[in-house]
Amino acid sequence: IHPSNNYEDPGRVRVAVRLRPRNAEDLLSDTDFADCVELQPELKRLRLRKNNWSSESYRFDEVFTETASQRRVYEVVAKPVVESVLNGYNGTVMAYGQIGTGKTYTLGRLGKDDASERGIMVRALEDIISSMSVTSDSVEVSYLQLYMESIQDLLAPEKVNIPINEDPKTGEVSLPGATVVKLRDLDHLLQLLQVGEVNRHAANTKLNTESSRSHAILVVYIRRSVHEIIDKITSEEKDTRTELPGDNHVPLVRKSKLLIVDLAGSERIDKSGSEGPLLEEAKFINLSLSSLGKCINALAENSPHIPTRDSKLTRLLRDSFGGSARTSLIITVGPSARNHAETTSTIMFGQRAM
Ligand code: ADP
Ligand code: MG
Repeated sequence: IHPSNNYEDPGRVRVAVRLRPRNAEDLLSDTDFADCVELQPELKRLRLRKNNWSSESYRFDEVFTETASQRRVYEVVAKPVVESVLNGYNGTVMAYGQIGTGKTYTLGRLGKDDASERGIMVRALEDIISSMSVTSDSVEVSYLQLYMESIQDLLAPEKVNIPINEDPKTGEVSLPGATVVKLRDLDHLLQLLQVGEVNRHAANTKLNTESSRSHAILVVYIRRSVHEIIDKITSEEKDTRTELPGDNHVPLVRKSKLLIVDLAGSERIDKSGSEGPLLEEAKFINLSLSSLGKCINALAENSPHIPTRDSKLTRLLRDSFGGSARTSLIITVGPSARNHAETTSTIMFGQRAM
């Protein structure tokens, strides 16, 4: 079997795995320097050590070693989604993994001092902004946190409990009341992401939790005019377009949406040691991540029913994954054998899409 590297086809969720470089903590704790994962990027395979004698091999759409650049990760994982979004389809890029394995580094890194360090959010918006051709084209963003089944606005922290609305006719998901900012340029985005980060930290201090216990979601709304002759448009395509007044050559506006989701840490909170609020928090994280897993699984199996109703996370994603939407998942892992259990469960999550 040839490993598939077809990021071009919509449908199934594409899954890449990225290994974080060894850090000081890994070096101190790993007395025998035994890695728990070994990557075979040319085979797009990851070998997971089970014990001293055996290992299991897993295939992914792409495998990034610890030396993979931010640019390469963007180009393989996110760029096909961005291109599809620019063509009028919805899309999602998300990162899943244990705390400290590089989800935020991969998605949210601003790279203010060094542009080569920029993560997927900044690179995606850079490509999107530069694709806007006429003045009527626009890029807007919302930045949200989803914590314990409650959506908070990271651009206006007083807004909590933002509802999720689904248009019964079109299936379009919207967030009534969430702040939507029209982007001027990339600097504007960097400012907004920074404001969002400050607000997120403040909100979580107040809630007495860590940012790793919530999902951060950047929603990008794109409107692009499509210059085409109206009668060339099939009735099917018309559904996704809004017509503007005009004559024979009608400028049409095509709307689409990109979601970039930095998921809550997948590590299990030790149930015996946690009680009260911490246990509640863990239950909500488990609910949203396991319902996401079920949806990814259903998509992989071409199931006609994608069970998106079970959590706010999957309700929010509903019109942006599966169907004509393109979805990439990047799972992040550390090299150390000390995290064997969490690394194993992260890899199993990624395998649900394969
Ligand atoms: P997470 O969001 O999954 O909790 P972070 O993205 O915050 O993890 O990463 C934890 C630490 O590891 C950060 O200091 C980050 O800069 C570093 N790191 C993560 N991935 C990489 C990478 N691929 N290359 C270099 N440093 C990384
Ligand atoms: Mg993080």
